[in-house]
Amino acid sequence: SGSVIDRQSTENLRNKDNQHYLHPWEDIGSFGENQRTVAVGGKGIYLYDSEGNRLIDGPGGMWCTQIGYGRKEMAEVIARQIMRTPYYSPFNLTNDVSAVLAEKLAQMTPGDLNTVFFTTGGSTAVDSALRFVSFYNNCKGRPEKKKIISRQDAYHGSTYLSASASGKTRDKNFQDTAADIISFIGSPNPFRRPVGMSEEEFRDAKVKELEDRILELGPANVAAFIAEPILASGGVVIPPAGYHKMCLDICRKYDVLYISDEVVTGFGRLGHWFASEKVFDIVPDIITCAKGMTSGYQPLGACIVSDNLIAEISGNTGKGTIFSNGYTYSGHPVACAAALKNIEIMEQEKILEHVRETEPYFLQKVKELEDIPIVGNVRGQGLMACVECLLDPDKQSSLALDYEMGGRIDKKCQAMGLIVRPIINMNVMSPPLIITREQIDEMVQILRR
Ligand code: PLP
Repeated sequence: SGSVIDRQSTENLRNKDNQHYLHPWEDIGSFGENQRTVAVGGKGIYLYDSEGNRLIDGPGGMWCTQIGYGRKEMAEVIARQIMRTPYYSPFNLTNDVSAVLAEKLAQMTPGDLNTVFFTTGGSTAVDSALRFVSFYNNCKGRPEKKKIISRQDAYHGSTYLSASASGKTRDKNFQDTAADIISFIGSPNPFRRPVGMSEEEFRDAKVKELEDRILELGPANVAAFIAEPILASGGVVIPPAGYHKMCLDICRKYDVLYISDEVVTGFGRLGHWFASEKVFDIVPDIITCAKGMTSGYQPLGACIVSDNLIAEISGNTGKGTIFSNGYTYSGHPVACAAALKNIEIMEQEKILEHVRETEPYFLQKVKELEDIPIVGNVRGQGLMACVECLLDPDKQSSLALDYEMGGRIDKKCQAMGLIVRPIINMNVMSPPLIITREQIDEMVQILRR
């Protein structure tokens, strides 16, 4: 009830979807043949489909439904904001809610990251961060300092620039990218380290790769290093202890900026508002965030820049030096109101504390799945985890993959009441942060079956 559309049969909805809706990462070879589950409702950690099935939302939508579905307080705040000011241009006016949210974010971020540029989501947050870095170096009179170092397995978004900084080989097969400015180093995935190498040796080798690349490109040409604290859709890749801190030290040594892409790890996924400082002991120059900021109730992102960078260029340039980057919907008041309410709910319900308390139980339960023969590795941190399946787990060195395996597992799990996002041979979980221990048991039991 209360929907903008009348109730329709699943078949009817699937037909419309198949004929007219090009989905993200659509396999064009089978366009129009998909039998997608049709979401029509949600409550707490559960999603309801058009056939009346209740599904545990294992991936948290797309790493974002922190406070869960069906929150009346969110609906009320969003409706009220629409009646107050649904929109006004952010170019020459501001609005009350986005000003309050900007200050709130400045208080939540580490160090002197106090300047907030609002975007429409994560891709545009990363795009804006990369454009800001380019602008910064132009303002500093060093237009040659433009190369960005990123990592294999990274995902930073779907604008031309953020997609160019993403490092998944398969995604590049059919797309052009700004390959001239982005350079990739290896993913710090301890599970894929050479046989016989310790985690410390592996970490040192990966950090050395960063330093070697900066030297190879020439420090005068390298503008920034961009990294997710945990490579999320690359398969929840948790780097060896100390990796980020050592990478930051290398960046500092060569005057290279560090962009921490917290689109997934921000807003409680690892038990803190932001993971960079609290979990990985780094204060980067720029943080990008989105997703959990509104728990998915509205689209919103932000690129948050350190005072130091702003001071360096504002002191150096005269009036008329314009950061020509922005969106009609930057600082959208309805999205900002949703973010403020979402943050308030997370504070009142002590959701960060809940994540920190629940983390050991969640990780212990998912880790138990490693006793299943096809499971090669289970890894996780906070409330995010990945189950990586292998065709032949005894032959770790061959790491044979079945590219359809994750999809098959998700399909079977959905039939039993659980969505687990498939990525090639992996399935990732990042449930709503309000998940209870009983619900974790339910989720893991279905996955085990
Ligand atoms: N950065 C990271 C780390 C992500 O995981 C994602 C999306 O999954 C993005 C950026 C892009 O965000 P969005 O899909 O909101 O544009």
